[in-house]
Amino acid sequence: MSVAKQTTVCPYCKEQIAAGASKCKHCQSELNKVDSKKSRFAKYNTFRNGFLTGVLFTIVLIILGYFTFK
Ligand SMILES: [Zn+2]
Repeated sequence: MSVAKQTTVCPYCKEQIAAGASKCKHCQSELNKVDSKKSRFAKYNTFRNGFLTGVLFTIVLIILGYFTFK
């Protein structure tokens, strides 16, 4: 059985996409092979920064609440 089109699996949604595709047709994720590691790292950094901001905001709210109800 021969495969007419080479396919690969999207690292984001695990759907089958054409090999060498620059964008996933299922989840619209950018699949730039050269910058894949870089962009994933950037995405991770953005997520981490957002998470840290959320944690910091929660801590500030807890401290404010603590002093308000003391
Ligand atoms: Zn995808």
